[in-house]
Amino acid sequence: MDAFVFETLPGRVVFGPNTLDQLPQEIEKLGAKRALVLSTPQRQGLAQDIANRLGDRCAGIFAGAVMHVPVEVAHAAREEAERLGADCVVAAGGGSTIGLGKAIALHSSLPILAIPTTYAGSEMTPIYGLTENGLKKTGRDQRVLPKTVIYDPNLTLDLPPGISVTSGFNAIAHAVEALYSNQPNPITAMMAEDGIRALASGMPRVARNPRGLEGRSECLYGAWLCGSVLGTSGMALHHKLCHVLGGSWNLPHAETHTVVLPHVVAFNYAAAPRAMKRIERAMGTTNAASGIFDLMTQLNAPLSLREIGMNHDDLDRAASLVMEQPYYNPRPATREDIVRLLDDAFLGWRPA
Ligand code: NAD
Repeated sequence: MDAFVFETLPGRVVFGPNTLDQLPQEIEKLGAKRALVLSTPQRQGLAQDIANRLGDRCAGIFAGAVMHVPVEVAHAAREEAERLGADCVVAAGGGSTIGLGKAIALHSSLPILAIPTTYAGSEMTPIYGLTENGLKKTGRDQRVLPKTVIYDPNLTLDLPPGISVTSGFNAIAHAVEALYSNQPNPITAMMAEDGIRALASGMPRVARNPRGLEGRSECLYGAWLCGSVLGTSGMALHHKLCHVLGGSWNLPHAETHTVVLPHVVAFNYAAAPRAMKRIERAMGTTNAASGIFDLMTQLNAPLSLREIGMNHDDLDRAASLVMEQPYYNPRPATREDIVRLLDDAFLGWRPA
């Protein structure tokens, strides 16, 4: 067995249907008396429900979260937290809402209680992202890691089928890159493989029956595992490409992860054989890249950058941005490699 280092991240996870009922006790455990509840504008109803459950432990609601955490929104949310004298942030929603909670915690060290409603996995990571002047910057800081996470699959029953699928592939992408990270260890590999298995099995169930609690629970469990391994491993080429495309062209996050993933897996295939074997075992396929693509097709996911709003003329500039500060990747990539990979993703071909 190879030598390894494994570090667990602190954090309490409460998982299962109706666990939102435990919110008052969980807030009490954190010692919080004035929680600021965050949501996107579309999910104000959920924020209000949470505020009602918190009663006089709720200081207010900020329902202004948007994708990729623009610095202006982060400033506004921080000011609101200060104005209200908040001593805790309850972030209820997907990665955008939890990302906004992280932007507040980064400056104030307020504890975050996260209630994820997508499969993005941000709640399990100390990674934050902020977008300024069209550039998304990410960093790691223990202050932004949520102290408590409540995973209640009931809250995902209304996640639209299209978002459920792309969010699931976003989660799978975390596990894929954890499997070929430059800090491999057997625990992370086990969690990543089981995360992919749970999502590859749960997503078709959710597609058949979006309000089925079993399929939803399986996907949310997979999302937890995939988020956890993202939190403890490094990211590679796939995440770099998606950060550039999302931050600089404002492409939708989960859709971008979905479209790009099979092409990065095909590119890295020969350089990461052990990772590929685990992905194949988890998905019950003989080729990780085409297996991912085929599941995307089966679930009616977007297949090309073209259909999610990318302009072909911009691929060259995207490749340059990727090369400016490249991430580790098991197979070193030249600028030409990246242009070719982006072109494949633009056209949405099935990787061989
Ligand atoms: P999102 O949070 O923007 O949510 C997408 C849409 O779905 C929003 O309109 C939201 O209101 C809606 N929605 C969310 N949950 C719903 C539900 N249960 N029912 C109905 N509608 C619901 O999207 P996302 O993909 O979850 O997150 C993307 C963001 O998260 C990106 O900015 C990305 O960079 C970030 N992210 C960060 C990390 C990290 O570790 N820092 C990890 C993954 C993603």
